[in-house]
Amino acid sequence: MDKKTKTIRAFTHGRIITPEKEIPDGTLIVAGRGIQSLGRSSDIRVPDGAEVIECTGKILTPGFIDIHLHGGGGYDFSDAEGLAGAARFHASQGTTAMLPTLCPESLPKIRTNLALLGKGYPQNTDDESPLPEIIGLHLEGPFLNPKRRGAFDAGSLLLPRSGLIREFFEASGGALRLMTLAPELDGGMALIREAKEFGIIPCLGHSDATYEQAAAAFHIGIRHATHLFNAMRGFHHRAPGCALSALLDPEISVEVVVDGHHLHEAAVEMVYRLKGRDKMILVTDAAPLSGLQSGSCMLAGQRVEIRGEKALNQEGNLAGSLLSMAEALRLSVQRAGISLVDAARMATLNPAQLLGLSDIRGRLFAGGEADLVILNESLKVDAVYIGGRQVPEFKNRAAD
Ligand SMILES: [Zn+2]
Repeated sequence: MDKKTKTIRAFTHGRIITPEKEIPDGTLIVAGRGIQSLGRSSDIRVPDGAEVIECTGKILTPGFIDIHLHGGGGYDFSDAEGLAGAARFHASQGTTAMLPTLCPESLPKIRTNLALLGKGYPQNTDDESPLPEIIGLHLEGPFLNPKRRGAFDAGSLLLPRSGLIREFFEASGGALRLMTLAPELDGGMALIREAKEFGIIPCLGHSDATYEQAAAAFHIGIRHATHLFNAMRGFHHRAPGCALSALLDPEISVEVVVDGHHLHEAAVEMVYRLKGRDKMILVTDAAPLSGLQSGSCMLAGQRVEIRGEKALNQEGNLAGSLLSMAEALRLSVQRAGISLVDAARMATLNPAQLLGLSDIRGRLFAGGEADLVILNESLKVDAVYIGGRQVPEFKNRAAD
């Protein structure tokens, strides 16, 4: 597009959280897809002819990056249409980049799903609305500990086997980026090395590892702990378990599902005090039902339904959450006592850092992509922009 015809938008007098710094009265200029400039309103000149969006009383943050989600808005990731449907829901709630996450299923099914999601959105869509960028895939399993299977079917969990990670990586067309595994399984350590060879970030999760086993796994390359405390050996003062190992290692980042059900607020506060603002990452772990008030769906071969504001499988186990990233941010601030600036960092810069993308993502800076969330004073989404284009409102489809 010719420079002169670029749409210029000026977001004026908002509270801008970059999140490395906070500008209490800031203005941000977007030209086409990118951020042209940002700073204190008194220092930024609004270009002639710009569309002015008055943001007094509002908060501007980078677009959210969700590294763990299974669907949303009534859509799952079992086909390309579902991928786009779920993406539309999460985009409307501030997610501008994501790692669609696959559950353990039969090997042929895992390969098929990786191949499908590795190709991204359907090409032939008439719908021009901007969608979150797929910045990789997350495979949760299948090398998980049956003792800590959570809502997954024990029959779909496997012991580590050499060569499978290569197969998964190739099936995904190179898109596989995170892999959650239980390092204490026989062959678990070899699995970590194999994942690293393909540039896949190994994460500890669905694990019964002891404190010592986890420390050894961190030493050889695990970087991150998946939904901390959930489906994981917990804390005992004489046998502290992998959760404390993750909390005490300053190099390890941890995911938290802040929906009021997966973790008590005091547990979130403890994680905040131990990990600080840099190594905590907000995720949704969203079930396909997230964004809906009621209904049921299939997830990893099991029926999951909404009961008491939770997504539960037929055994009554939590099967993902009903969160969006905006809701995770709001609850972190309003219920778990995390400062807004730190919570914003946990939804933007920290996941970008884990993925090695923080030079281009998870921050608002001049020259960067205009992936932007505007929140109102109650921390609800007011507007979302992906690459400078506004995301339309999402219309739910009823789940089956
Ligand atoms: Zn999950």
